[in-house]
Amino acid sequence: MSRIHLLSPRLANQIAAGEVVERPANIIKELVENSLDAGAQHIDVDAEQGGIKLLRVRDDGHGIGKDDLPLSLSRHATSKITTLDDLEAVGTMGFRGEALASISSVSRLTLTSREKGSDEAWQVKAEGRDMQAEVSPAAHPTGTTVEARDLFFNTPARRKFLRTEKTEFSHLEDTLKKLALSRYDVAFTLRHNNRVIHSLRPAARTIDREKRVATLLNPQFMDNAVHIETEGAGLTIEGWVGLPTFSRSQGDMQYFFVNGRAVRDKLVVHAIKQAYRDVLYHGRHPAFVLYLWLDPKLVDVNVHPTKHEVRFRDGRLVHDFIFRSLHRALADIRPEQPTANLQ
Ligand code: ADP
Ligand code: MG
Repeated sequence: MSRIHLLSPRLANQIAAGEVVERPANIIKELVENSLDAGAQHIDVDAEQGGIKLLRVRDDGHGIGKDDLPLSLSRHATSKITTLDDLEAVGTMGFRGEALASISSVSRLTLTSREKGSDEAWQVKAEGRDMQAEVSPAAHPTGTTVEARDLFFNTPARRKFLRTEKTEFSHLEDTLKKLALSRYDVAFTLRHNNRVIHSLRPAARTIDREKRVATLLNPQFMDNAVHIETEGAGLTIEGWVGLPTFSRSQGDMQYFFVNGRAVRDKLVVHAIKQAYRDVLYHGRHPAFVLYLWLDPKLVDVNVHPTKHEVRFRDGRLVHDFIFRSLHRALADIRPEQPTANLQ
Protein backbone atom coordinates (compact mmCIF):
# COMPACT_ATOMS: atom_id res chain seq x y z
CA MET A 1 0.00 0.00 0.00
CA SER A 2 1.28 3.45 -0.83
CA ARG A 3 2.16 5.68 2.11
CA ILE A 4 2.29 8.88 0.15
CA HIS A 5 -0.77 10.85 -0.86
CA LEU A 6 -1.40 14.39 -2.00
CA LEU A 7 -2.68 16.82 0.61
CA SER A 8 -6.15 18.16 -0.04
CA PRO A 9 -6.04 21.72 -1.46
CA ARG A 10 -7.65 22.95 1.73
CA LEU A 11 -5.00 21.45 3.97
CA ALA A 12 -2.23 22.56 1.63
CA ASN A 13 -3.59 26.10 1.81
CA GLN A 14 -3.88 25.99 5.58
CA ILE A 15 -0.27 24.93 5.84
CA ALA A 16 0.82 27.62 3.42
CA ALA A 17 -1.28 30.14 5.35
CA GLY A 18 1.02 29.58 8.32
CA GLU A 19 3.72 31.47 6.44
CA VAL A 20 1.72 34.59 5.66
CA VAL A 21 -1.19 34.66 8.09
CA GLU A 22 -0.18 34.57 11.72
CA ARG A 23 -2.47 37.32 12.89
CA PRO A 24 -4.95 39.94 11.63
CA ALA A 25 -2.17 42.40 10.84
CA ASN A 26 -0.79 40.04 8.17
CA ILE A 27 -4.20 39.85 6.50
CA ILE A 28 -4.49 43.62 6.40
CA LYS A 29 -1.10 43.86 4.74
CA GLU A 30 -2.07 41.38 2.04
CA LEU A 31 -5.50 42.90 1.40
CA VAL A 32 -4.35 46.52 1.32
CA GLU A 33 -1.45 45.60 -0.95
CA ASN A 34 -3.96 44.01 -3.31
CA SER A 35 -5.98 47.23 -3.27
CA LEU A 36 -2.86 49.27 -4.04
CA ASP A 37 -1.94 46.90 -6.86
CA ALA A 38 -5.46 47.45 -8.24
CA GLY A 39 -4.80 51.18 -8.45
CA ALA A 40 -7.12 52.16 -5.60
CA GLN A 41 -7.23 55.81 -4.53
CA HIS A 42 -9.36 55.22 -1.43
CA ILE A 43 -8.91 52.31 0.93
CA ASP A 44 -11.15 51.74 3.94
CA VAL A 45 -10.22 49.24 6.59
CA ASP A 46 -12.67 48.05 9.22
CA ALA A 47 -11.74 45.81 12.10
CA GLU A 48 -13.70 44.32 14.94
CA GLN A 49 -12.20 42.81 18.05
CA GLY A 50 -8.64 43.40 16.99
CA GLY A 51 -9.47 42.04 13.55
CA ILE A 52 -10.14 38.55 14.90
CA LYS A 53 -13.89 38.78 14.51
CA LEU A 54 -13.89 40.87 11.36
CA LEU A 55 -11.55 42.46 8.88
CA ARG A 56 -12.90 44.32 5.91
CA VAL A 57 -10.98 46.13 3.21
CA ARG A 58 -12.88 48.15 0.65
CA ASP A 59 -11.26 49.84 -2.33
CA ASP A 60 -12.07 51.74 -5.50
CA GLY A 61 -9.53 49.93 -7.64
CA HIS A 62 -10.04 48.24 -11.02
CA GLY A 63 -11.99 45.35 -9.53
CA ILE A 64 -12.17 41.69 -10.51
CA GLY A 65 -14.29 40.30 -13.33
CA LYS A 66 -16.90 37.61 -12.79
CA ASP A 67 -14.84 34.78 -14.27
CA ASP A 68 -11.74 35.73 -12.34
CA LEU A 69 -13.48 35.86 -8.98
CA PRO A 70 -13.35 32.13 -8.09
CA LEU A 71 -9.87 31.89 -9.61
CA SER A 72 -8.55 34.68 -7.40
CA LEU A 73 -9.12 32.41 -4.40
CA SER A 74 -7.00 29.59 -5.81
CA ARG A 75 -3.42 29.12 -4.80
CA HIS A 76 -0.78 30.31 -7.28
CA ALA A 77 -3.42 32.29 -9.16
CA THR A 78 -2.24 35.80 -9.95
CA SER A 79 -2.71 38.48 -12.59
CA LYS A 80 0.59 40.10 -11.71
CA ILE A 81 3.38 38.00 -13.16
CA THR A 82 3.56 35.48 -15.98
CA THR A 83 7.21 34.65 -16.46
CA LEU A 84 10.35 34.39 -14.40
CA ASP A 85 11.57 37.55 -16.10
CA ASP A 86 8.63 39.44 -14.61
CA LEU A 87 9.78 38.32 -11.19
CA GLU A 88 13.19 39.86 -11.83
CA ALA A 89 11.72 43.34 -11.85
CA VAL A 90 8.43 43.01 -10.06
CA GLY A 91 6.57 46.30 -9.83
CA THR A 92 3.57 45.17 -7.80
CA MET A 93 3.32 44.46 -4.09
CA GLY A 94 1.94 40.98 -4.72
CA PHE A 95 2.96 38.28 -7.18
CA ARG A 96 2.83 34.94 -5.37
CA GLY A 97 -0.89 34.40 -5.80
CA GLU A 98 -1.18 32.99 -2.31
CA ALA A 99 -2.80 35.54 -0.07
CA LEU A 100 -6.48 35.10 -0.88
CA ALA A 101 -6.13 31.31 -0.96
CA SER A 102 -4.41 31.35 2.42
CA ILE A 103 -6.81 33.80 4.05
CA SER A 104 -9.87 31.95 2.76
CA SER A 105 -8.56 28.71 4.20
CA VAL A 106 -8.44 30.09 7.75
CA SER A 107 -11.43 32.46 7.86
CA ARG A 108 -14.92 32.97 6.46
CA LEU A 109 -14.13 35.03 3.42
CA THR A 110 -16.42 37.07 1.19
CA LEU A 111 -15.09 38.74 -1.92
CA THR A 112 -17.31 41.24 -3.69
CA SER A 113 -16.22 43.17 -6.73
CA ARG A 114 -17.25 45.18 -9.72
CA GLU A 115 -14.78 45.40 -12.55
CA LYS A 116 -14.08 48.79 -14.05
CA GLY A 117 -16.31 49.34 -17.06
CA SER A 118 -18.84 46.72 -15.99
CA ASP A 119 -22.30 47.46 -14.66
CA GLU A 120 -22.55 44.30 -12.62
CA ALA A 121 -21.00 43.29 -9.34
CA TRP A 122 -20.37 39.71 -8.24
CA GLN A 123 -19.58 37.92 -5.05
CA VAL A 124 -17.88 34.71 -3.94
CA LYS A 125 -17.86 33.23 -0.49
CA ALA A 126 -15.39 30.73 0.83
CA GLU A 127 -15.10 29.00 4.15
CA GLY A 128 -11.98 26.97 3.71
CA ARG A 129 -13.77 24.86 1.11
CA ASP A 130 -12.08 22.54 -1.34
CA MET A 131 -14.63 23.03 -4.08
CA GLN A 132 -14.87 25.88 -6.53
CA ALA A 133 -16.61 28.84 -4.96
CA GLU A 134 -20.07 29.79 -6.29
CA VAL A 135 -20.44 33.21 -7.88
CA SER A 136 -23.59 35.19 -7.13
CA PRO A 137 -24.80 38.66 -8.14
CA ALA A 138 -24.17 41.51 -5.70
CA ALA A 139 -24.30 45.27 -5.34
CA HIS A 140 -21.00 47.13 -5.26
CA PRO A 141 -19.50 50.22 -6.87
CA THR A 142 -16.39 49.83 -9.04
CA GLY A 143 -13.77 48.25 -6.84
CA THR A 144 -13.48 45.43 -4.39
CA THR A 145 -14.45 44.56 -0.84
CA VAL A 146 -12.85 41.63 0.93
CA GLU A 147 -14.26 40.56 4.23
CA ALA A 148 -12.59 37.97 6.46
CA ARG A 149 -14.54 36.88 9.53
CA ASP A 150 -13.71 34.64 12.46
CA LEU A 151 -10.01 34.23 11.90
CA PHE A 152 -8.77 30.70 12.60
CA PHE A 153 -12.31 29.45 13.32
CA ASN A 154 -11.28 26.11 11.83
CA THR A 155 -7.71 25.95 13.13
CA PRO A 156 -8.02 26.18 16.95
CA ALA A 157 -4.32 25.49 17.44
CA ARG A 158 -3.50 28.68 15.55
CA ARG A 159 -6.18 30.64 17.29
CA LYS A 160 -4.47 30.00 20.59
CA PHE A 161 -1.50 32.02 19.45
CA LEU A 162 -3.57 35.15 18.99
CA ARG A 163 -3.02 37.72 21.72
CA THR A 164 -5.51 40.12 23.27
CA GLU A 165 -7.75 42.27 21.12
CA LYS A 166 -5.67 45.29 22.10
CA THR A 167 -2.36 43.72 21.11
CA GLU A 168 -3.72 42.42 17.82
CA PHE A 169 -5.14 45.82 17.02
CA SER A 170 -1.87 47.55 17.77
CA HIS A 171 -0.09 45.23 15.30
CA LEU A 172 -2.81 45.91 12.79
CA GLU A 173 -2.51 49.66 13.24
CA ASP A 174 1.24 49.53 12.85
CA THR A 175 0.84 47.61 9.61
CA LEU A 176 -1.61 50.19 8.33
CA LYS A 177 0.77 52.98 9.30
CA LYS A 178 3.48 51.42 7.17
CA LEU A 179 1.13 51.11 4.23
CA ALA A 180 -0.08 54.70 4.64
CA LEU A 181 3.53 55.89 4.79
CA SER A 182 4.30 53.97 1.63
CA ARG A 183 1.60 55.66 -0.47
CA TYR A 184 0.90 59.31 0.27
CA ASP A 185 -1.24 59.62 -2.83
CA VAL A 186 -3.86 57.23 -1.46
CA ALA A 187 -6.57 58.04 1.09
CA PHE A 188 -6.88 55.61 3.99
CA THR A 189 -9.32 55.16 6.81
CA LEU A 190 -9.02 52.74 9.68
CA ARG A 191 -11.95 51.91 11.93
CA HIS A 192 -11.87 49.71 14.98
CA ASN A 193 -15.12 48.56 16.59
CA ASN A 194 -16.87 51.29 14.57
CA ARG A 195 -14.59 54.03 15.86
CA VAL A 196 -12.52 56.00 13.37
CA ILE A 197 -8.87 55.64 14.34
CA HIS A 198 -7.24 57.19 11.29
CA SER A 199 -8.65 59.17 8.42
CA LEU A 200 -5.97 60.24 5.99
CA ARG A 201 -6.52 62.36 2.93
CA PRO A 202 -4.23 62.07 -0.08
CA ALA A 203 -1.07 64.11 0.46
CA ALA A 204 0.56 65.57 -2.61
CA ARG A 205 2.62 68.48 -1.29
CA THR A 206 5.58 68.04 1.05
CA ILE A 207 3.75 69.83 3.82
CA ASP A 208 0.83 67.40 3.55
CA ARG A 209 3.20 64.47 3.58
CA GLU A 210 4.82 65.85 6.70
CA LYS A 211 1.40 66.19 8.24
CA ARG A 212 0.64 62.55 7.50
CA VAL A 213 3.92 61.45 9.08
CA ALA A 214 3.26 63.63 12.14
CA THR A 215 -0.27 62.23 12.50
CA LEU A 216 0.84 58.64 12.14
CA LEU A 217 4.01 58.73 14.22
CA ASN A 218 4.02 61.48 16.73
CA PRO A 219 3.62 65.24 16.21
CA GLN A 220 6.95 65.83 17.93
CA PHE A 221 8.84 63.69 15.46
CA MET A 222 8.50 66.28 12.69
CA ASP A 223 9.72 69.08 14.97
CA ASN A 224 12.77 67.02 15.78
CA ALA A 225 13.69 65.58 12.42
CA VAL A 226 15.65 66.71 9.39
CA HIS A 227 14.66 66.00 5.84
CA ILE A 228 17.26 64.29 3.72
CA GLU A 229 17.50 63.54 0.04
CA THR A 230 20.62 62.04 -1.50
CA GLU A 231 21.29 60.50 -4.88
CA GLY A 232 24.22 58.55 -6.21
CA ALA A 233 25.28 55.37 -8.00
CA GLY A 234 21.71 54.74 -9.13
CA LEU A 235 20.40 54.94 -5.57
CA THR A 236 18.17 57.54 -3.98
CA ILE A 237 17.41 57.91 -0.31
CA GLU A 238 14.84 60.35 0.95
CA GLY A 239 12.90 60.95 4.11
CA TRP A 240 13.22 62.19 7.66
CA VAL A 241 15.79 61.30 10.28
CA GLY A 242 15.14 62.07 13.91
CA LEU A 243 17.61 64.27 15.75
CA PRO A 244 19.79 62.44 18.27
CA THR A 245 18.01 64.42 20.98
CA PHE A 246 14.76 62.76 19.91
CA SER A 247 16.09 59.26 20.52
CA ARG A 248 13.82 56.54 21.84
CA SER A 249 14.21 53.79 24.39
CA GLN A 250 12.88 51.33 21.81
CA GLY A 251 13.15 51.00 18.06
CA ASP A 252 9.43 51.71 17.71
CA MET A 253 9.68 54.64 15.34
CA GLN A 254 11.73 53.17 12.56
CA TYR A 255 10.24 52.94 9.12
CA PHE A 256 12.32 51.95 6.15
CA PHE A 257 10.97 51.37 2.67
CA VAL A 258 12.73 49.82 -0.28
CA ASN A 259 11.04 50.72 -3.54
CA GLY A 260 7.89 51.51 -1.59
CA ARG A 261 7.87 48.30 0.42
CA ALA A 262 8.32 48.34 4.20
CA VAL A 263 11.23 46.09 5.08
CA ARG A 264 13.19 44.91 8.08
CA ASP A 265 16.67 44.33 6.85
CA LYS A 266 19.80 43.61 8.88
CA LEU A 267 22.07 45.39 6.46
CA VAL A 268 19.93 48.52 6.52
CA VAL A 269 19.64 48.48 10.30
CA HIS A 270 23.39 48.13 10.59
CA ALA A 271 24.10 51.03 8.24
CA ILE A 272 21.73 53.32 10.15
CA LYS A 273 23.11 52.26 13.51
CA GLN A 274 26.63 53.03 12.33
CA ALA A 275 25.59 56.46 11.12
CA TYR A 276 24.10 57.32 14.49
CA ARG A 277 26.86 55.66 16.49
CA ASP A 278 28.72 58.80 17.51
CA VAL A 279 25.68 60.90 18.24
CA LEU A 280 23.42 58.58 20.24
CA TYR A 281 23.85 57.46 23.78
CA HIS A 282 24.26 53.76 24.31
CA GLY A 283 20.95 51.91 24.43
CA ARG A 284 19.01 54.69 22.68
CA HIS A 285 17.33 54.15 19.31
CA PRO A 286 16.92 56.63 16.47
CA ALA A 287 13.57 57.50 14.90
CA PHE A 288 13.33 57.67 11.12
CA VAL A 289 11.10 57.37 8.08
CA LEU A 290 13.25 56.63 5.07
CA TYR A 291 12.68 55.64 1.49
CA LEU A 292 15.33 53.93 -0.59
CA TRP A 293 14.80 53.71 -4.32
CA LEU A 294 16.85 51.60 -6.68
CA ASP A 295 16.52 49.62 -9.88
CA PRO A 296 14.15 46.73 -8.99
CA LYS A 297 16.55 44.38 -10.78
CA LEU A 298 19.12 45.08 -8.07
CA VAL A 299 16.94 43.85 -5.23
CA ASP A 300 15.22 40.51 -4.69
CA VAL A 301 11.95 40.76 -2.78
CA ASN A 302 11.08 37.09 -3.12
CA VAL A 303 13.12 35.99 -0.12
CA HIS A 304 10.23 35.26 2.20
CA PRO A 305 6.45 34.91 1.66
CA THR A 306 5.76 38.04 3.72
CA LYS A 307 8.31 40.01 1.64
CA HIS A 308 9.58 41.77 4.77
CA GLU A 309 13.08 40.73 3.87
CA VAL A 310 14.94 41.74 0.76
CA ARG A 311 18.26 40.79 -0.72
CA PHE A 312 20.36 43.44 -2.43
CA ARG A 313 22.53 42.40 -5.30
CA ASP A 314 25.28 44.73 -4.10
CA GLY A 315 24.81 44.88 -0.35
CA ARG A 316 28.06 46.74 0.28
CA LEU A 317 27.09 49.55 -2.07
CA VAL A 318 23.65 49.93 -0.47
CA HIS A 319 25.08 49.82 3.04
CA ASP A 320 27.69 52.46 2.34
CA PHE A 321 25.23 54.68 0.54
CA ILE A 322 22.80 54.65 3.47
CA PHE A 323 25.59 55.14 5.97
CA ARG A 324 27.16 58.06 4.12
CA SER A 325 23.84 59.81 3.46
CA LEU A 326 22.79 59.68 7.09
CA HIS A 327 26.22 60.35 8.49
CA ARG A 328 26.47 63.53 6.46
CA ALA A 329 23.00 64.69 7.50
CA LEU A 330 23.78 64.03 11.13
CA ALA A 331 27.21 65.70 10.87
CA ASP A 332 25.49 68.90 9.80
CA ILE A 333 23.60 69.03 13.05
CA ARG A 334 26.37 67.67 15.20
CA PRO A 335 27.65 71.03 16.57
CA GLU A 336 24.93 70.80 19.21
CA GLN A 337 26.35 67.56 20.47
CA PRO A 338 29.54 68.70 22.29
CA THR A 339 27.49 70.97 24.54
CA ALA A 340 25.31 68.04 25.44
CA ASN A 341 28.41 65.97 26.18
CA LEU A 342 29.95 68.62 28.43
CA GLN A 343 27.06 68.53 30.83
P1 ADP B 1 -1.26 38.18 -5.66
O1 ADP B 1 -1.52 39.53 -5.05
O2 ADP B 1 0.08 37.65 -5.26
O3 ADP B 1 -1.48 38.15 -7.13
P2 ADP B 1 -3.56 37.33 -4.14
O4 ADP B 1 -3.99 35.98 -3.64
O5 ADP B 1 -3.33 38.38 -3.12
O6 ADP B 1 -2.28 37.11 -5.04
O7 ADP B 1 -4.67 37.82 -5.17
C1 ADP B 1 -4.98 37.03 -6.29
C2 ADP B 1 -5.47 37.86 -7.46
O8 ADP B 1 -6.76 38.40 -7.15
C3 ADP B 1 -4.59 39.07 -7.78
O9 ADP B 1 -3.54 38.73 -8.66
C4 ADP B 1 -5.59 40.03 -8.43
O10 ADP B 1 -5.74 39.75 -9.80
C5 ADP B 1 -6.90 39.69 -7.73
N1 ADP B 1 -7.21 40.65 -6.65
C6 ADP B 1 -7.09 40.43 -5.31
N2 ADP B 1 -7.49 41.50 -4.59
C7 ADP B 1 -7.87 42.44 -5.48
C8 ADP B 1 -8.38 43.79 -5.38
N3 ADP B 1 -8.58 44.37 -4.19
N4 ADP B 1 -8.69 44.43 -6.53
C9 ADP B 1 -8.51 43.84 -7.74
N5 ADP B 1 -8.01 42.59 -7.91
C10 ADP B 1 -7.69 41.90 -6.80
MG1 MG C 1 -1.78 39.87 -3.04
